[in-house]
Amino acid sequence: MTTGAAPQRKTDIGPPNFRNFLPPVISKNYGKWQYHETLKPGVLVHVAESGDKLFTVRAGTPRLLSIQTIRELCDLADKYCGGYVRFTSRHNIEFLLTDPAKIEPLIAEIRAKGFPVGGTANSISSIVHTQGWIHCHTAATDASGIVKAVMDELIEHFTHMKLPAKIRLALACCLNMCGAVHCSDIAILGIHRRPPKVEDRLPKVCEIPNVVASCPTAAIRPKKVDGKDTVEIIDEKCMFCGNCFTVCPALPINNALNDGCSIWVGGKVSNARSAPAFSKLAVPFLPNNPPRWPEVVDAVKNIVEVWAGDARKYERIGEWIDRIGWPQFFKKTGIPFTKQHIDDFRHAELTWQRSMHFKA
Ligand code: SF4
Ligand code: SF4
Repeated sequence: MTTGAAPQRKTDIGPPNFRNFLPPVISKNYGKWQYHETLKPGVLVHVAESGDKLFTVRAGTPRLLSIQTIRELCDLADKYCGGYVRFTSRHNIEFLLTDPAKIEPLIAEIRAKGFPVGGTANSISSIVHTQGWIHCHTAATDASGIVKAVMDELIEHFTHMKLPAKIRLALACCLNMCGAVHCSDIAILGIHRRPPKVEDRLPKVCEIPNVVASCPTAAIRPKKVDGKDTVEIIDEKCMFCGNCFTVCPALPINNALNDGCSIWVGGKVSNARSAPAFSKLAVPFLPNNPPRWPEVVDAVKNIVEVWAGDARKYERIGEWIDRIGWPQFFKKTGIPFTKQHIDDFRHAELTWQRSMHFKA
């Protein structure tokens, strides 16, 4: 019989402990940082209680990276940062340095490779986005293509910090929302506007009970057509989420004419000055118009410019709207108010307060 604790089992399942990848200066000062400052667009300094300083150089990335690009970025990290580099939750890349003399040469090399340096403080950070037509089957719109077109137009706000406050942009190519569209200052959300089609091959390629169970709103029910088992979709119950298509390829939801983008505004994760907030609908539908999506680019740019010209210092888009009110938001931006802005989702009543009692 053996005694004592079993040795730690090594496995490749699950993420490795992040502490194994921290730069030595962060490990040494973990939890003991005093303050940080933005030295200039794209450059931060964090100062520890011990007096140690950590410099960060932030650059934008295209989010979907080739192996060659990753190797180039890693070569830079090896050359300047002892091999330490990190990605932020919005796909910026951050090079972490302790020697301030290396900041300018590093910035010069990053720029020479075509990456913009910036995205800090009162600027637009990289747009967090999802897979789009490159990868995902449910996509109602593209991701990388729109993001490239939008950022080409707004790049000055990435490399400068002249906005009233920071803006976080997000894109998700369907309402399943692998991006952070629910909590971003401006969010582009791909939407389907028609229920899936039921193809004749469905009984041959899909398990009907699984298909019925896949629908979160119970919009799918079994049906017999010409004596064969299949399903039908109740249009009024369908919210065009595409979950059933994930389970069954015989329920295609993509539709060139009726798929497109909506724009949402006013969300944020931060609890600085005001509580975190969900994004709310601003533009219900814009068409997919590749390769440059001019309607979506114009809509985003318009909101940024109107907000930048009207907001108070440090007032994020949601806080600005809270101050001026939604009627003024629609008036100032020139966005028409439509019936889609009224929340009539069939489960909405479950969230309404329907009594005179105050909630504790
Ligand atoms: Fe796929 Fe939707 Fe995620 Fe886009 S947001 S990657 S379409 S599940
Ligand atoms: Fe149900 Fe979504 Fe399929 Fe509509 S798209 S039938 S809501 S699973």
